Amino acid sequence: MATGNINVSVENIFPLIKKFLYSDHEIFLRELISNATDATLKLKHLASIGEAKVEYGNPQIEIKIDKKGKKIHVIDQGIGMTEEEVKKYINELAFSGAEEFLNKYDDSKDSGIIGHFGLGFYSSFMVADKVEIITKSYKDAPAAHWSCDGSPKFSLKKGKKEDHGTEIILHIADDSKEFLEENRITGLLQKYNKFMPIPIKFGTKTNTLPKPEGAKEEDPAPTEEVDNIINNPNPAWTKQPADLEDEDYKNFYRELYPMQFEEPLFHIHLNVDYPFNLTGILYFPKLTNDLNIQKDRIQLYQNQVFVTDNVEGIVPEFLTMLRGVIDSPDIPLNVSRSYLQADGAVKKISSYITRKVADKLNSLFKNNREDFEAKWNDIKIVIEYGMLSEEKFFEKADKFALYPTVDGSYFTFEELQEKVKDLQTDKDDKLVLLYASDKEAQHSYIEAAKAKGYEVLLMDSPIIGHLMQKLETSKEKVSFARVDADHLDNLIKKEDTTISKLSDEEKEKLKANLEEVIEDKKYTVQLEAMDSTASPFIITEPEFMRRMKEMQQTGGGGMFGMGGMPEMYNLIVNTNHELVGEILNTKTAKKRERLINQSIDLARLSKGLLKGEELTEFIKRSYEMVK
Ligand code: ADP
Repeated sequence: MATGNINVSVENIFPLIKKFLYSDHEIFLRELISNATDATLKLKHLASIGEAKVEYGNPQIEIKIDKKGKKIHVIDQGIGMTEEEVKKYINELAFSGAEEFLNKYDDSKDSGIIGHFGLGFYSSFMVADKVEIITKSYKDAPAAHWSCDGSPKFSLKKGKKEDHGTEIILHIADDSKEFLEENRITGLLQKYNKFMPIPIKFGTKTNTLPKPEGAKEEDPAPTEEVDNIINNPNPAWTKQPADLEDEDYKNFYRELYPMQFEEPLFHIHLNVDYPFNLTGILYFPKLTNDLNIQKDRIQLYQNQVFVTDNVEGIVPEFLTMLRGVIDSPDIPLNVSRSYLQADGAVKKISSYITRKVADKLNSLFKNNREDFEAKWNDIKIVIEYGMLSEEKFFEKADKFALYPTVDGSYFTFEELQEKVKDLQTDKDDKLVLLYASDKEAQHSYIEAAKAKGYEVLLMDSPIIGHLMQKLETSKEKVSFARVDADHLDNLIKKEDTTISKLSDEEKEKLKANLEEVIEDKKYTVQLEAMDSTASPFIITEPEFMRRMKEMQQTGGGGMFGMGGMPEMYNLIVNTNHELVGEILNTKTAKKRERLINQSIDLARLSKGLLKGEELTEFIKRSYEMVK
């Protein structure tokens, strides 16, 4: 038997390993199963090229818990190691890997580190105070038995093992007893190993078999004990798109998110091998206006090993609302997120994903526009958010992003421009796009616009203000205005102005009359000479202020100091309306006041501003009038 010291330069590496990233102790199992998988796949390769003279068969990896003995066993049927190889790979290589890892990250308890790959075999010491390796190489050599109790001392002797492969035995430390619980291990296997390429056995399970013919009703169905294989070694994303049906993608979605009962809208199969390797399937889920971060997120894998479901930095932010899987060996995992974002390969991956998503959306739009329109409401947030945050995506999405009208038609921006340019271009040659955010609340304004032959868009996403801002700056001579932002004739100013029936003197007098009655400072009185059939009083909310406020509510926009902004409205008075003329000509102050109050309340009512006590008063007063 040989004993020796592992070549330690960091004093007492094991306590360090133990301490390292306390919350992530659980990754030891993933690391050991990854090693077992590698060892098995290596044997497969060697057997296939005739290098290893063994029957590859159907190898498994087995996890066993020995609760009494306080041990976990991880057993594989892979290439195994000779004694020399144990010295080389475990004492030197594995150790130097762990040492390098710790040196690098000792002071970066930075939660930004993802994956923690590279700690490898030695991560066992996070949960075990003694680790044994019993291993036999596929080469004709005796088995080896390595053992180490967490100090730099190890022992290495001949081992007892007949078949090639490796068994790792962890003697679980007292502070890590949770890992002797079956449920805890099942949870870990589900989390990290659900799609690993070699079948993983954890205990057995009972299968119910069909009853034999002629069995009686009361006879119990026969059962059989079978291996409990916890993983699907061939998940959909590892297959070729041509080999998969729509149903296969849906099934895989359910496999990924067993608690998700809503079907995905569509999927995107990612598959590249140059200039980086990446496979995966992304799903567009039904999204509501609720921007809360959902629980079911995109999962990042590395060669079918789960790494994280925090893909920030790898996937552009707007796509983190999607679901699915990305698998790439080319994403560096031992680095902080800020580094990740600067990494060239990661940048390429991110723009590849963006492009694939844009291409898919474009082909959906082109191939089945009707279906695309039907889905628009559920996918618009992702697209609108992408247009705002990624210039490249904006350029592509401009061709398929849709602008629905209040009547349920959908236009692309170009189509919309074409449709409205004759009627909605103002005297300064600017195209004014009218929109509503709430069909019910803005009903009277929408009707007024439609009566003039204008198109009214329905723009109700939470971030639409930001997008309009972006469109106004990137397109030429285009502006958006909500239908209730001003009187229509002011929103789209044309050359021919209507002549006012009132003289300047009369206007002065009218304004004074009105301001006397309306004490509320929220309203600015504006006299306008409009068509005599237009409403006598209209309350509008200036576009700019309102939009800034809305944008501030959804974050970003770079606006500050707008939070405490008071509500501001314009009271537009149509000087050509009969009622307005009547107010002006009313002799008694009392009657005039009543007319003004009633008219303004009607204007407030149609804007949804009349509430509470004032509304009660208004109704009472109105009943009095009809008596
Ligand atoms: P890594 O897997 O990143 O190389 P590890 O510290 O996990 O680092 O392992 C070091 C080496 O030990 C591996 O590269 C491999 O050669 C060997 N090894 C570890 N586990 C096994 C195993 N189950 N079967 C065969 N060899 C193994």
